[in-house]
Amino acid sequence: MIEIKNIHKKFGKNEVLKGIDLDVKKGEVISIIGPSGTGKSTFLRCINCLENADNGSIKMDEKEVELRHIKKSDKLWLRRNTAMVFQGFYLFNNKTVLRNITIGLTVVKKMSQKEADEKGLEILKQIGLLDKKDEYPSSLSGGQQQRVAIGRALALDPKVLLFDEPTSALDPELVNEVLMLIKDLAKQHKTMIIVTHEISFARNVSDKVCFMDGGKIVEMGNAKDVIDNPQNERTKKFLNVLK
Ligand code: ATP
Ligand code: MG
Repeated sequence: MIEIKNIHKKFGKNEVLKGIDLDVKKGEVISIIGPSGTGKSTFLRCINCLENADNGSIKMDEKEVELRHIKKSDKLWLRRNTAMVFQGFYLFNNKTVLRNITIGLTVVKKMSQKEADEKGLEILKQIGLLDKKDEYPSSLSGGQQQRVAIGRALALDPKVLLFDEPTSALDPELVNEVLMLIKDLAKQHKTMIIVTHEISFARNVSDKVCFMDGGKIVEMGNAKDVIDNPQNERTKKFLNVLK
C-alpha cells in the first residue's frame, strides 16, 4: 500500500540516506532501529517532506510521487497523507487540549469547528484524555502531552503514522502509557512506521523490524526473527550492546 523506493539524501557532502526501500502494507507496523546518526529521523522526515529527498519515490494507494524536484502539490499530498509524532511533543501551549487536536482539522482539512470538535472529542476518548479537554498542555504530564500529540496525528486520518522516538523524551515511568497507546493503535491496524530504541516494544508490537546503519537498511524481517535471531553482524552487535 505504501512503496518507498530508493530514497537518497545528502546534507552537503554528508550522504545520509543511501537508497532506502521500504514496502508497508495497509495495517502493518514497522519499527526501525539502529545506531545514532544513521539517518532514521532523516528517513521519516523525507517521507513527509520535512526534508526534501534528493532522489526516490513514494507510492501510496494508486498515486506515485517522485521526490526529486517534487511539485508543490505532491508535497502537500504527502504531508496530508502522513502524520508525524516527534520526540518533543510540539503542542500549542496557548491552546487547550481539544483545540490542539482540532486545529489541524479546521486549518488543514477545512472542517467546521463543530465538526472538528466532534471528531476531537472522539479522539480524546480514544486516547483516554477526555477529562483533560479544556486543560492547557503545561498542566499535563509528558506522557499525557505525547498522547495528545498522537491524538492530533490520528485526527488527520493519515494513511500512515510516523513516529520518531516517541518515548525518548519521557521520564521512564511515563514511557509505558505512550507505548500502550501505540500498541492499541497497532491492534486497530493503523499503518505505522516507528523509529524506536524500545527493543522489546518493537519486538512485541511490530510486524517487521528494520535495522538501519550507515544510511541503509541492513536487515529487515519478521520482528521476532530480527530481534531474537539477527543474521547480520552489525545487527547482532547493535542488539548485543543493548542487552
Ligand atoms: P538518532 O538516533 O541520534 O536520532 P538518526 O538515526 O535519527 O539519529 P539523523 O538525525 O537522521 O540520525 O541524522 C543522520 C545524519 O544526518 C547525521 O550525521 C546528522 O548530523 C545529519 N543531519 C540530519 N539533519 C541535518 C540537517 N538538517 N543538516 C545537516 N545535517 C543533518
Ligand atoms: Mg533521530
